[in-house]
Amino acid sequence: MIEFDGIRFNEVVSQQLMACLTEFDSANRNLTHDQVPNRVPRPVFMAAVAEVNGLPFIPKVAEFCEAALLENCDPAVLTREGFTPLCQNNGTILIALANPWSQLPDEYMALRFPEAKFDKVVTVSSEISRAIERVSGASGPNRSELEQIEVEDDDDKIKDFDVTADYEEPIARLAATILSTATKLRASDIHFKVEKDVFYYCFRVDGDLGEKVEIPMKLKDRIDAFFLSLMKLPTEIRNTHPGISGRFTISYFHRPIDIRFERHRTYRGYHTTMRLLDKSHINVTLGKGSLAFDEETLFELYRVMAVPAGIIVMSGPTGSGKSTTLNAMLRELNRPEVNILTLENPVEDEIPGVTHCDLKSPSEFKPMISSFMRSDPDIILMGEVRDLESAELAVEAAVTGHKVLTTIHTPRASQIIERFEQLGIERWKIAQTLKAACAQRLLKVLCPHCKQKLDGIDEKKRRIFNLGDEWADRVVYEANKEGCPECRHSGYSGRSAILEIIPITPKTSDELSKGALTPYELEVRVQEEGKLPNLRKSGLKALAEGRTDLAALSKVIDMTYTDE
Ligand SMILES: [Zn+2]
Repeated sequence: MIEFDGIRFNEVVSQQLMACLTEFDSANRNLTHDQVPNRVPRPVFMAAVAEVNGLPFIPKVAEFCEAALLENCDPAVLTREGFTPLCQNNGTILIALANPWSQLPDEYMALRFPEAKFDKVVTVSSEISRAIERVSGASGPNRSELEQIEVEDDDDKIKDFDVTADYEEPIARLAATILSTATKLRASDIHFKVEKDVFYYCFRVDGDLGEKVEIPMKLKDRIDAFFLSLMKLPTEIRNTHPGISGRFTISYFHRPIDIRFERHRTYRGYHTTMRLLDKSHINVTLGKGSLAFDEETLFELYRVMAVPAGIIVMSGPTGSGKSTTLNAMLRELNRPEVNILTLENPVEDEIPGVTHCDLKSPSEFKPMISSFMRSDPDIILMGEVRDLESAELAVEAAVTGHKVLTTIHTPRASQIIERFEQLGIERWKIAQTLKAACAQRLLKVLCPHCKQKLDGIDEKKRRIFNLGDEWADRVVYEANKEGCPECRHSGYSGRSAILEIIPITPKTSDELSKGALTPYELEVRVQEEGKLPNLRKSGLKALAEGRTDLAALSKVIDMTYTDE
């Protein structure tokens, strides 16, 4: 039986869904029911759900949602049951729903709109939350949205946290407001800081830290205690430990979001950071959403993934989305006959069929990977190569015929080899086991609704950023400083990944081992050939296509030099 987004379909419906999916794409014929949630993208699955019910499927509905209709409904009921009224025409109201088998939408809507007739369309559940979110006001969460934030049971850590009781508490309400706002803004982190006279929080959105919001100083310990109590941490460690790590889960419009909590003591109090691991962003597919690479890049990426054994390294600074891309690659490589193991800190994206291991401390690394190797893995994902031990183990695993996916902190792809050398691995060893050196950046995408047209780039900027004369009258765009409601006045909407890939062929491997070629020379050679995707080329393409602006581009890649 198929289970998708928490709905278990019975045998008959599962068969019907499989028939539809096979009709859409004959490759789906061979999928087992267990594989469906993992292999079939959500919109495709929902299209099958619509087909089985004889309803139309519309992937995007949020923009059509009329606020007036929603005012008559309770958003909490709508989000819980996964439907929303969209628009009204000649007495017929169009309802978007994610579960067409449920009778509740009909009953509920008939009560609210006794005069109306109803038409239904199927959409994805995230669109329904988005529609409700959109209409329920941009001025911060309202009471019923706050009610939507509930702390879910995470393992056995926080079983008895009573949500409704705690929402009477102002501190719990404040915490819920902060967390829901952060989620709504798609923030990656929330920071709480105490300075000499101020206590404040701020969000990191699309890589930038936002405005500081002050909270009365006297509340700092209360808020701290609230978050620690969410994680059910014993009281004694609160005061004795200078650093505390933990995690808890919140639910935002029925979407579970993991929060990774880090707190360390500072002179004035605590500095707390919370990383939001919103799975609706993490569960991305190669070629889609923020990983919508161009065809050339995708092709090279698939070619790299097809390498039978060896190390594939993704480099880039913190927050460049390295592990997101590796996880998306892992999803592609995930086949029933392949044994995949991951060693991460923390586990970011749980993939069905993959064995994930959570690394509690660096000392666990070696015993973990040694026991890994005995369980006969084909593919190993190592969160990060950070020291000699992890570097040696990656090389060792590759030498013994495994495919190893990992990340490393270097700005450029060609520096990966040198980084392994610095960690103590001989050049020839890494040259023979490394199969692909990749680098990634996340590029802010201009808000399509308010971006501003420019008739070319002025001479000064062309000289600083090494842009040829052809840019003098080429139409480009830049962010609108005021922004618009669609982009929450930031001028940008989300980020998109750009990638550089340097495959290490047997020939280059040989040259690198013998010292006949330096990694930098390799990078230049690859650039001169001009066949492979690189950061500058992909970035300039995005600029020329009006998807990003020069400010965003020059922030993530060094444009002040060129090897061309
Ligand atoms: Zn805008």
